[in-house]
Amino acid sequence: MEPDPVAPPAGGTAASVSPPPQPSSSLIFLGTGCSGALPDTRCLIRASTPPCAVCSLGLSLPPERNPNYRLNTSLLIDYCHDDGTHKYILIDIGKTFREQVLRWFVHHKVPSVDSIILTHEHADAVLGLDEVWVVQPRNYRNEIKQIPIFLTRFAMDSITRRFPYLVEQKPEDGDEDAQAAKIDWKIIEEDVEKPFVASGLEFVPLPTGAGQLDLLILEANALHGVGDAFSTHLTLSETLDAIKRIRPKRALLIGMRHFFEHQRENQMLAEWSISEGIPVQLAHDGLRAFIDL
Ligand SMILES: [Zn+2]
Ligand SMILES: [Zn+2]
Repeated sequence: MEPDPVAPPAGGTAASVSPPPQPSSSLIFLGTGCSGALPDTRCLIRASTPPCAVCSLGLSLPPERNPNYRLNTSLLIDYCHDDGTHKYILIDIGKTFREQVLRWFVHHKVPSVDSIILTHEHADAVLGLDEVWVVQPRNYRNEIKQIPIFLTRFAMDSITRRFPYLVEQKPEDGDEDAQAAKIDWKIIEEDVEKPFVASGLEFVPLPTGAGQLDLLILEANALHGVGDAFSTHLTLSETLDAIKRIRPKRALLIGMRHFFEHQRENQMLAEWSISEGIPVQLAHDGLRAFIDL
């Protein structure tokens, strides 16, 4: 991926988007939150303690104008082909997917999804699979077209156990009105040497040493402290250390829990960006970043 280097970094409000220079590809952040999403329901219902400021803010504004309202991490790539046609590639379809369709597919006028990539098999990445049929494209006879879903063998085994009705599709079950998703499951290898192509766009698993990245999208899960040795998640200081090592032209952060208040952390990151010479901001749900693919 080669993001548009002239696209400005994400601003400090939920309403800020980069202006489209011309018909072009873009990334739509459907969700920038953690596995539990925000507001954190535990934080809100605990009678003994008042909710934290971020979760209170998360309820005080409508989600579309609220950068502290963060659904499961998910990215939609709007890939503009040379002939001007658009293909939509979805990365992860978590348990908040229905709400993301209601909110951001409608807002950004996304009609359907052409292919899906699953990064892992957790609920925050796959539980929306039950809703796939809603976003599948249709052919001229209004029949649902088959959609490719790319995933590892490990994720496939897990999904086969949890969604047998999506995997074991028998032709005789093909009641037109049953709205069963038609899925072409495609196993990918976790190997940088084995790129794959989804809707005409090439993806390289875990590219390393590929020169300077135009845009790095990285997790920052907790605000302070060092991550414990058992956690697979990054704290903000670990994330910023990684950005200094990788030195992309620009970075956007995702996966933030309720320790992150959008405006406050982005002000801090703006100062960090100036001193380190790398623009870094928190992404927010609904953000659209124009990019050269
Ligand atoms: Zn909270
Ligand atoms: Zn997960």
